[in-house]
Amino acid sequence: MDSTTHALNADLHCHSFVSDGTLSPAALARRAKDNGVELWSLTDHDELGGQREARDAAAGLGLPYLTGVEVSVTFAASTVHIVGLGIDVDDDTLREGLRETRDGRERRARAIAESLAAVGIEGSFDGAMCYAGNPTLISRTHFARFLVESGVCRDMQAVFRRYLVRGKPGYVAHRWASLADAVRWITQAGGIAVVAHPGRYKFTRNEEAALFDEFKAHGGRAVEVVTGSHSGADAVKYAALAIELDLLASRGADFHAPGESRIDLGLLPALPRALTPVWDALTDRVLHP
Ligand code: AMP
Ligand code: MN
Ligand code: MN
Ligand code: MN
Repeated sequence: MDSTTHALNADLHCHSFVSDGTLSPAALARRAKDNGVELWSLTDHDELGGQREARDAAAGLGLPYLTGVEVSVTFAASTVHIVGLGIDVDDDTLREGLRETRDGRERRARAIAESLAAVGIEGSFDGAMCYAGNPTLISRTHFARFLVESGVCRDMQAVFRRYLVRGKPGYVAHRWASLADAVRWITQAGGIAVVAHPGRYKFTRNEEAALFDEFKAHGGRAVEVVTGSHSGADAVKYAALAIELDLLASRGADFHAPGESRIDLGLLPALPRALTPVWDALTDRVLHP
């Protein structure tokens, strides 16, 4: 890839029904291609089960592909997401780490259902499970879809204002992977670790500085700047941070489902030109370029 790579329509963050999206990996590949994506990655939460299908479907469409994952991490008593791009999906340490990270989701889901039952919302465990394409990956998104479908909330945004978040019914604290482990698993599997949607975390200035300090110290190299989870102001802020901290920049819609996600695959603004795209450092990891 040459010096025009800022304009490359790379979309390096989305979810299939192997985690909390609603489409198959193959359907996402098709959608990415139809929307003009030129480099794609499927980044399911804590799970590599969709990678083969994504890669094969992308190959069939002549769509360059990077392997991907989004690891759930606990940092400063909050949840942070670390995307891994260009990983070896057969790496044993990564696979075992992700298996441990997924462990406990069902227990947590039962506790979420109990907490919702305590405010009169019955049947949410089974209700959420109906939406989970992968029962080992039951997530708050599946509960949120159930709460919308059953008429408790108007839409997903309303759910995440009134339920499932700290201080609200249905919130259950959970311990995910450590930042050090997540970055190490990704890096040792040959990938690049990326701080996902930093604009979403409610950190103080000091906590945020500590997050990026430790992330870099463990070998993390990139940050999402342009994502469906960021406002324009967030993108400006994290573009400046990428330059200040000498981090590579990533771009991805974080697409989950038609009619639910704010931005579709491939329809994001381009990365600001002052940034170095993360894909410039991953050219040797691109499949069927
Ligand atoms: P979990 O990994 O089970 O804690 O679920 C986290 C998922 O919930 C995220 O990956 C998002 O897909 C979804 N989520 C969290 N906050 C929001 C929000 N405000 N609006 C829509 N989806 C959200
Ligand atoms: Mn999600
Ligand atoms: Mn995320
Ligand atoms: Mn995501």
